[in-house]
Amino acid sequence: MKRYYFDHAATTPLAEEVLAAMLPFFCEKYANPSSSHALGRNVVASVDEARDALAALFGRKAKELYFTSGGTESDNWAIKGVMHANRDKGRHLLVSAFEHPAVLETAAFLSREGYEVEYIPATPQGFVDLDALASMVRDDTVLVCVMAANNEVGTLQPLREAAEIAHKKGALFFTDAVQAVGSVAIPKEADLFSCSAHKFYGPKGVGLLCVREGVRIERLLHGGHQERSMRGGTTPSPLVIGLWKAASLAIDGADEETSRVRTLRDRFLRGVLSLPNTALNGDSERRLASNANVCFYGRRGEILLDNLDMRGICASTGSACTSGAVHPSHVLLAMGKKEEAESSIRFSFGRDNTEKEIDEALEIIASVVKKK
Ligand code: PLP
Repeated sequence: MKRYYFDHAATTPLAEEVLAAMLPFFCEKYANPSSSHALGRNVVASVDEARDALAALFGRKAKELYFTSGGTESDNWAIKGVMHANRDKGRHLLVSAFEHPAVLETAAFLSREGYEVEYIPATPQGFVDLDALASMVRDDTVLVCVMAANNEVGTLQPLREAAEIAHKKGALFFTDAVQAVGSVAIPKEADLFSCSAHKFYGPKGVGLLCVREGVRIERLLHGGHQERSMRGGTTPSPLVIGLWKAASLAIDGADEETSRVRTLRDRFLRGVLSLPNTALNGDSERRLASNANVCFYGRRGEILLDNLDMRGICASTGSACTSGAVHPSHVLLAMGKKEEAESSIRFSFGRDNTEKEIDEALEIIASVVKKK
């Protein structure tokens, strides 16, 4: 059966060019980059080159970048590391209510440790409520977290404005940019940001945390002297090279890819929204070009998703299934969309999708939706 992969927000296939760049670092240039012998020095030169190139791509300094295992680790580190290292300023943490669990669960953990965590509400269009943020930020607020692009509804957040509000009170600003690389630039106002290679055609298991020079942060992993003693553990050189290559392809080719994917996504939306009882979740303009989060009123998202899967369409709901229980999307609930929270599906498009696939998938969706 043909499979239609419309789940690029969950992960993307590794690009062939990325694999080619990584391959020599498995069996030929395999030395530990921390080894002082010639083979090790060879590898560390490539890792340093990758760090310099990534810094240039993101407009940051090489010494501000730390390689991690991906988005979840970077988010954990940013939040725990900053809150722990800045206890003299306060214990107040603000996170937007529709963050990824990597942020929300970290915040919940800190709250159990005695930190004061508050959640910034969202607007019905899927944006962080800036007025609410302005009224919530305090002199003892250490960190404000607002993601760059929401992973469920794709809305692009007003990062500059949010960072400005945080900075006025002396708070630091962190953005989870996991969904944003290759789509929108991460503004210089962000004191910290995280990203993850597998979201932009790179390998799984590697990401970045960028920490502006001068920001106080505690290390997350105690161990060797890798990553300037801030994150112990042997540097995964093939993954780092993959991250570099994937980020350069994604950022350098961003304009072209964004307009191609937007055309596909809009073609999909025209078709799907012509079906009865459907609506788009989240703002129609300020959103990722790849994202279409659609509500099918009166249907259960997870059942519809299973039916689509049986016909070859791979998409996802915002809900997570835990031991048989289905939870409504916390993102849509935060936007005040109670009904939509149980009846929506996220379709996210990417590099390999074609117009033909969109048209075929629309026919399948129409026939699945017609069946009660
Ligand atoms: N943050 C966001 C916004 C995400 O979408 C994801 C993954 O879906 C993560 C963090 C976690 O990233 P990783 O899979 O690299 O741990």
